[in-house]
Amino acid sequence: MSKHLHHDIVIIGAGAAGLTLALELANEHKVAILTKGDISEGSTLYAQGGVAAVMSDKDTVDSHVQDTINAGAELGNEDAIRFTVENSKPSIDWLIDQGVPFTRNGESDDYHLTKEGGHSHRRIIHAADATGLAISQTLVKNALAHPNIHFYPDRVAIDLVTTQKLGLSEQNRVIGLYALNQKTDTVEVFHAHRVALATGGSSKVYLYTSNPDTASGDGIAMAWRAGCRVGNMEFNQFHPTCLYDAKAKTFLISEAVRGEGGRLLLPDGTRFMFNFDERGELAPRDIVARAIDHEMKRLGVKHVLLDISHKDPEFIKEHFPTIYKRCLNYGHDMTKGPIPVVPAAHYTCGGVVVDQHGTTDVTDLYAIGEASYTGLHGANRLASNSLLECIVYARSAAQKMLADNEPRADYQIPDWDSSKVTDSDEDVVITHNWHELRRFMWDYVGIVRTNKRLLRAKHRVDLLLSEIEEFYSNYRVSADLLELRNLAVVADLIIQSAMARKESRGLHFTLDYPDKHENSTPTILKPRIRSSELENPSACPHIA
Ligand SMILES: Cc1cc2nc3c(=O)[nH]c(=O)nc-3n(C[C@H](O)[C@H](O)[C@H](O)COP(=O)(O)OP(=O)(O)OC[C@H]3O[C@@H](n4cnc5c(N)ncnc54)[C@H](O)[C@@H]3O)c2cc1C
Repeated sequence: MSKHLHHDIVIIGAGAAGLTLALELANEHKVAILTKGDISEGSTLYAQGGVAAVMSDKDTVDSHVQDTINAGAELGNEDAIRFTVENSKPSIDWLIDQGVPFTRNGESDDYHLTKEGGHSHRRIIHAADATGLAISQTLVKNALAHPNIHFYPDRVAIDLVTTQKLGLSEQNRVIGLYALNQKTDTVEVFHAHRVALATGGSSKVYLYTSNPDTASGDGIAMAWRAGCRVGNMEFNQFHPTCLYDAKAKTFLISEAVRGEGGRLLLPDGTRFMFNFDERGELAPRDIVARAIDHEMKRLGVKHVLLDISHKDPEFIKEHFPTIYKRCLNYGHDMTKGPIPVVPAAHYTCGGVVVDQHGTTDVTDLYAIGEASYTGLHGANRLASNSLLECIVYARSAAQKMLADNEPRADYQIPDWDSSKVTDSDEDVVITHNWHELRRFMWDYVGIVRTNKRLLRAKHRVDLLLSEIEEFYSNYRVSADLLELRNLAVVADLIIQSAMARKESRGLHFTLDYPDKHENSTPTILKPRIRSSELENPSACPHIA
């Protein structure tokens, strides 16, 4: 028999979005937060730069709105952009009230604001160069101290349970979810009147990523399987330079290294950025990433080099203490020679389609943060707008939930049944498919796309999806299998969206349609719940 747990509201994810929602609700509601592993792990922890907000008298909402529209290559939704920017100052005030130690301007009471690429004003509030850490530590501490917030770490949410999936009602309402408890290796049933997906992005679908292991698109895949639309999945932001080292896995080399004179070189030492843009290494992020990708594919090499060793070693150590030390730990001394770098998947602009309160197409199901598609980013993300989106939409979702006093019915949810499946004797299938998927996504659906590459990827993902579904139906679930299943769904959504866009815009660049179209619209995909599931909910081998 499965363990059943009952909560009013279940939030999946404890990044900036999930924690903000929990803290906003906790005075009125009992809230459960599930995390895949450790409570703090997620992209929020690693955010460096800061949060964009209109804080200075010299800045205006209109200016921030316009910068966001421009960065998004005119594909952003102006209402969503204005809503987010208008709520930027109150959101920062909320973070300050929570105790986030943002950096001040010298001895004064004012906060220090920096300027980042694409912003016309100084508007990035930050906590030194570790803003995400400061936000995460503060919100986790407050949430742990709140009696109404209950954490469930080491729980991998598997799938949402909806009335439609169980054949209980025509209206598709979420009533809970199944989650794998990694400590006990059992599947638990969480009953909830409302569920929020705050699961972050899906950059792990690519071979190289700056994101932590949590970013496997689980929330997007779960929402899709539950019947939600998904938007703009073709727009994946790639950071130009991550350290290429098997042990480093996801270590980002800040753009400031190029800003201070770092040169990008081919393996034979040739400098190449000026062949692509007159600004050389200082060209915008997407141009640099595309140039590196082009050279790597042309030469068939695994990385390029970033060299700042012509600068005084003391200057390097003083300006880049963290990067210098981390690289040295991996055996690369950046004061003495070039370091190997590759571009890496960094941010998922698309996600679950939501309105201004984070509500999705499934009743009582919310999506917030990087897992959602609000319309803010359009075809590219303006630097530091993502943490802002997490806070603004989490607070807005909380307002909607707090205003809703309608009583909810309690439904029966069947146990998770492992009696019809066996232990897998071939886990190599999972590891093989996991590597293959991330490799072909990198090669065929990465920074530069073509019709042919996308078609190749589509054939492969279709095959993988059917193999994985068969595996899922016959064997006991494991965290690796669940992740692979979600990665394959997300990969398919990215490929389908990229195939649908017959132009190059923002982060989607294809050699077959190199120009922008007029009257371009967001790519919205609609799921089909398989009729077998509706007619026979117990068709799922795991549901008792
Ligand atoms: C290196 C780096 C630097 C960045 N710098 C900036 C910056 O300066 N400014 C900015 O605005 N943005 C920045 N970003 C982007 C920003 O950090 C993220 O967009 C944001 O933190 C996402 O927050 P989130 O709450 O949506 O998700 P996350 O913080 O990623 O949290 C996801 C949560 O979901 C949980 N989860 C996922 N799947 C499951 C599952 N199946 N079951 C249970 N739990 C699950 C995880 O355990 C985790 O708790 C950066 C990102 C990275 C990686």
